[in-house]
Parts: sequence; C-alpha cells; structure tokens
Amino acid sequence: VTTRISLPRIFLVGIGLLGLARVGLAASQLAQHWSQVTLFTAVSSPWSPVTIALFVTVGVAASAFVIIVPGHEGQTSSHDLGTMGSLACVVVFPPYIAILIAVVASTIAQVAFQPTGHRRAWQFTVFNVGSYVLATAASATLFAFYDGMHLLVAPKLPQQAAQTLLAVGGAVAVNYIVSYGLTVVSLWLIRRTVASRDGKTVSSSRVSAVTAIRDIFITSHRDAILPESTAAIVGILFGYLWLVNPPLAPIALLPLAVIYIAFQNFIRLQELDRLKSNFITEVSHELRTPLSSMVASSELLYHHIGDLQGDSIRDLSRTSYESSNHLFRVVENLLNASTLQSGTLTIRPVALSVDEIISDAVTQAQPFLESKNQSLELDLPFDLPEVLADPRHIVQVLINLLTNAAKYSATGTQVRIACQTEGDMVRIGVVDQGMGISDEDQAHIFERFYRVPSNTMTSVVGSGLGLSIVKSLVDMHHGQVGVVSHVGDGSTFWFTLPSA
Ligand code: ADP
Repeated sequence: VTTRISLPRIFLVGIGLLGLARVGLAASQLAQHWSQVTLFTAVSSPWSPVTIALFVTVGVAASAFVIIVPGHEGQTSSHDLGTMGSLACVVVFPPYIAILIAVVASTIAQVAFQPTGHRRAWQFTVFNVGSYVLATAASATLFAFYDGMHLLVAPKLPQQAAQTLLAVGGAVAVNYIVSYGLTVVSLWLIRRTVASRDGKTVSSSRVSAVTAIRDIFITSHRDAILPESTAAIVGILFGYLWLVNPPLAPIALLPLAVIYIAFQNFIRLQELDRLKSNFITEVSHELRTPLSSMVASSELLYHHIGDLQGDSIRDLSRTSYESSNHLFRVVENLLNASTLQSGTLTIRPVALSVDEIISDAVTQAQPFLESKNQSLELDLPFDLPEVLADPRHIVQVLINLLTNAAKYSATGTQVRIACQTEGDMVRIGVVDQGMGISDEDQAHIFERFYRVPSNTMTSVVGSGLGLSIVKSLVDMHHGQVGVVSHVGDGSTFWFTLPSA
C-alpha cells in the first residue's frame, strides 16, 4: 500500500481528527451530565436496591461466562470468570453486602447454568458456591481493612500510594489464593479417592501430598493465569468506574471481549496445527504401507525369478500392481487437494453414461475390495439418463467413496452401488455394512484433514482428505453430497449430478 501525502489530505485528516475530538468531548459531557441525574446518583450508592440487583446480575453473568483456554496436545480447558464479579462487588460494597451478593449470585449461576449433557452433582454445586463466597469474603475483609473504597475514589497521592496498592493487590491476591487453593486441594482429594477406589497404592506421606498439590497447581495455573488475572483487573476496574461514574462502568468489560476473541482465534490455529501434524504422520503411513509391499514383492521377483512357480510370480506381480495402484490413488488425492485449495482445478463437464463412470471407478477400486474379500453389487435402473460430469474427476469421487467403504468395513462384507433419478438430477449412492459414523462425526467428516478419532484404534490409515475432495468436486459439478449412517450399522454416502 502506498500513501501519498498531499495538502488536501492533511487538511481532510485534520478536519476529521477535530471532528472526532469534538464527538469525544460531547460524549464525556453527556456522561458527566448523566452521572448528576438523580437516578444515576441513586444507583451509584452501594446500598441502593438497583445497585445490588445489578451486581447480582454481573456476578451471575461472570460466573457463567467461560473462557476456553488452549491447553496441551490440542486439549482445551474452560475457566469461569467469577473472580470478576467477586472483585467488582468487593470494591463497591461494604464486606457484608459483598458476601451476601456472592451467596445469591453464585447459587443462581450454579443452579441456572448446568454443564451441557449432564447435571452437576450437588457436591460440586456446594463446593463452587462455598469457594466463591469464601474468596469474596477474604478479599472484602482485606479491602475494607485498608479502607480501599475511600482510597480508590479519592486517593491522597503519593502518601497513600502504597496503601492503595496493598488494598487492591491484596484483594486480588487473596481471592486468587483462596479460590485456587481450594480447587487444587479438592482436585488432589478427588484424585486420591479415585486412585484408592481403583485399588492403586496411594502414598500418604506428607511430602507426596505437597508435591502432588504443587503439580496440580502448576498445571492448572499455567492455563488459567491469563484469563483469570484479566478478569480480576476487569472486576476492579468495573467497581472503580461504578464508584466514580456509573454509566462508564460497562466500558470495563471491553477487555474481556477482546481476550475472548483472541483466545477463540488462538484455539482455531492450535487445532489446525494439530490436524496438520496428524496429517503428516498419517500420509507418511499411507505412502509407506503400499511402498513397502511393492519393494518386498519386486525384490522377491528380481532375486528369485528363476526359482518361482508361475502362480507365485502372478501373485507377486499382482501385489506389486495393487500397491502401485494404491500409491497412485493417494498421490492423485494429494494433488487434487492442492489444486482445489489453490483454486486452479477446472471442471470440463461432458455428457457421460453412469455405467461408464461406475465401470471405470470399479476397475480401480476392485483391488481394495478384493484384498478384503468384499463383494460388490450394482443397483442400476435401465432408464438412467446420462449425466453432465468431468470424467476424470467424477471417477475419482466414486473411487474415494468405494475405497472408504472397503477400508471402514470388515472382511467379507458387501458394498453396493445404487443409482436413481431424482427430478433433473441423478443420485449415486455407495452403501456399506461397515462400522458406521456417529452423528457428531458426520458433522465434520467432509472437512479437510478430519478423521474420526477411533480410527487410531482400528489403525486404518488415511489422510482425512478423501471426503473433502469428494465434496469440493461434487460442489463444482453443481451436485450435492451427503451421508446416512448409524454406528455399527453401515453407511450410505451419496452424491447427485445434473442429468445431461
Ligand atoms: P481418510 O479415509 O483418508 O481418513 P476421508 O476424508 O476419506 O479420509 O474420511 C474421513 C473420515 O470419515 C475417515 O477417517 C473415517 O473415519 C470416516 N469415514 C469415511 N468413510 C467411511 C465409511 N464408509 N464408513 C465409516 N467411516 C467412514
């Protein structure tokens, strides 16, 4: 980007800046005016019911507000930001009201916001409310002890700087120590109970307890420090603004939004990074398996061709042929993926008979089916119209679906190709009797690099590219693609093509 400096531009920018300054000034005057209006004077008093109701709401929202924090090996952990509500109350109210608000807000938050999928055990609810209230009580007491509220509103600097710092820093630190301390000790107790229930030996010496607690602290602390300390600062800022200029208090919440968005992006990048490294491992495996069998069979042929019988020679050359065919498919998929991503892949549709597409694809996918003794059945109506498709790419689509059907089904099962006309489209489906896919995974399998996590257990290698290529290619043909599947019940992958 080139910027040219000229007089008119400087003039325009100058006018713009002056305008902005004027708007800012007007806004601050308005805010000042608001803060003098009786309603706002009433709500800024710590004892007014409106203020208390508002802080209960802030407390509930803060406890329910969760930041997902990236952890290790693609795992994520979540941290609720109750600290924020707790510290905001501590700054604005005398200790007993702050504690009362903590009790009400944390009980509402715990009862109203249950984790998705299952209900929280009542012991956890009690523990969470208890730790929230204790942490608030500790901070409030310390803050009041140093007369923090008066120091914050009208600090006599520099004489009282140290005392102000002690009041604010002390309130944050004590809150952190109490809530973290309780969490870490309770986690350690849970681990101990689970370990002894599972019959593992638990050393009860004091040293090991301290080490275990320290380990838990360090692990959870590493993930939590950034969001939790931001929350603490936001809480103090919110309380401070509430004391000096209530209408401005919501501004304090802005850093939370920023950190939330930053974390979301960070997590997405981490996930991509993890998928990429998985991809490299998987592709290396996928290339290596056929390569090793090619090397082995061709080596045998080369060294022992004289000693081998006709049958063995045929078997070995067949293995070699099948493996090279497999390798060819893998490389074809990789190339397709990269041309699709760069947007340089073009489709040249011509009128094609569906038989032709199927017979081309079956010829190339047959070795995969045969290697697992799987039979193939065709369900092809006589009156099927021709379709508009690019022969090379549409055959690749069907091959990917057929090889997946073979890969993710047991030996000896049946794979069926079923076609039918649907309005002015033709629908081609590949039906298998394989392991099936859960609804949760179905939502992701067409994404690049995505592989169902249990693949690692069944050790079926793959790059996670096949279905994403299928989807992109079918999209380029103006068709649709989808799957119907239940775990353990087989899957039907289908796509449609416009009839010619
Ligand atoms: P790859 O097979 O290389 O892992 P794909 O993009 O072809 O990648 O498939 C993505 C995932 O979808 C696979 O890892 C597999 O878990 C699942 N999947 C695909 N086809 C089937 C099928 N016919 N039956 C069960 N699972 C399948």
